[in-house]
Amino acid sequence: MLLGVIADDLTGATDVALMLAREGMKVVQTVGVPASAETLPEADAVVVSMKSRTNPAAEAVEWSLAACDALVGAGARQILFKYCSTFDSTDQGNIGPVAEALMRRLDVRWTVACPAFPANGRSVYQGHLFVGAQLLSDSPMKDHPLTPMRDSNLVRVLQRQTSVKVGLVPVQVVEQGAAATRAAFEALGQDGPCIAIGDAITDAHLRVLGEAFAGQPLLTGGSGIALGLPDNFRRAGLLDPRGEARPFHAPAGREAVLAGSCSAATRGQVAAAIEAGMEAFALDPVAIAEGRMTADDVLGWAGARLGRGPVLVYSTAEPEAVAKAQSQLGRDVASALVERLLGEVAQGLAAAGVTRMVVAGGETSGAVVGALGVSMLEIGPEIDPGVPWTLAADGGRMALALKSGNFGGRDFFRKALAMLG
Ligand code: ADP
Repeated sequence: MLLGVIADDLTGATDVALMLAREGMKVVQTVGVPASAETLPEADAVVVSMKSRTNPAAEAVEWSLAACDALVGAGARQILFKYCSTFDSTDQGNIGPVAEALMRRLDVRWTVACPAFPANGRSVYQGHLFVGAQLLSDSPMKDHPLTPMRDSNLVRVLQRQTSVKVGLVPVQVVEQGAAATRAAFEALGQDGPCIAIGDAITDAHLRVLGEAFAGQPLLTGGSGIALGLPDNFRRAGLLDPRGEARPFHAPAGREAVLAGSCSAATRGQVAAAIEAGMEAFALDPVAIAEGRMTADDVLGWAGARLGRGPVLVYSTAEPEAVAKAQSQLGRDVASALVERLLGEVAQGLAAAGVTRMVVAGGETSGAVVGALGVSMLEIGPEIDPGVPWTLAADGGRMALALKSGNFGGRDFFRKALAMLG
């Protein structure tokens, strides 16, 4: 193994795994912290996905260190701590505490924090994070229910999360190339450990940052920061020249879409699928809570239709409907009920011969993958930016497209299934 990645959520892990696969690495993603180095598969890069973004910082640190130990134990030469390109975190963490703990574990004096992902509109300029044309603090992220981001100055944001000094390597330095950029990071680490925010507005900047970290044990950032890393290994003669895309063989079988995301993009995708004639079953959290709607009801409905084409099961709803269900049941209960039911439905669909499944929603994907008993995913071709097909390496033969709520075009479901032929 060349690169070990520790990702703080499931669909974010898939995003970085795809980035590395596109750059010519053989990539495997694990679901959850591996028990030991011995359980990790053979691959150029292994991405460990956790669900640690909003957990208590101590827990996120403990899991991240365990993942780091397993990856290093399996031979990883470099560790990347991957978080969201909108720097989703609170003043308590978890980006700062995890980065700091990994620096100590890997004995490094300087590292980078760079969430930039220009392809998806995330850029960092003078340490300030932009989402499209807006500062992070003016973007919808200011109202995120769990990690509201109300300060765009990442030097300040990160400094509130860690006792390690936080600095900045601005774009003017990055523009001078990898050697100057590396020297700037080194200089910042002279008087004690330092995490420096790296500016990046374009993919070219990300590649410079990547090259500047050749041979360095630790980087942190969004999936964009991984862009330049495979070429470092290639230049060092450790990775084969870029070859043909690896073939992806989805098992033949029935098709289903499970949507538990209520994000704007998923709402559009569900509407588009229904308009296009996909058979659809709408879940109602209150009916589930009252026992009037069960997994058996959904599976009975699906059984009659699966032979004719893909079925869609969705809890996706407009914000007013979500607020109403949450006020009646409580936010966590509503979420848990929907996630559990979708997990049971996924199990039932797999038993009914579904081998190609699209799942919309980060938490939802975690619930479905958990219910299916999948602990390892091979990364396949890209459907839309940041979302690949994956193949479950255990828990039964299943092709899975795990989509973060806000990713993908309006016809994502049809497009994804059509790709498999
Ligand atoms: P996203 O990637 O868009 O954030 P997630 O799956 O991560 O999507 O999160 C959506 C959460 O909302 C899940 O916990 C899901 O169970 C919950 N949920 C889904 N539909 C509803 C609904 N109709 N009412 C209340 N909560 C819902």
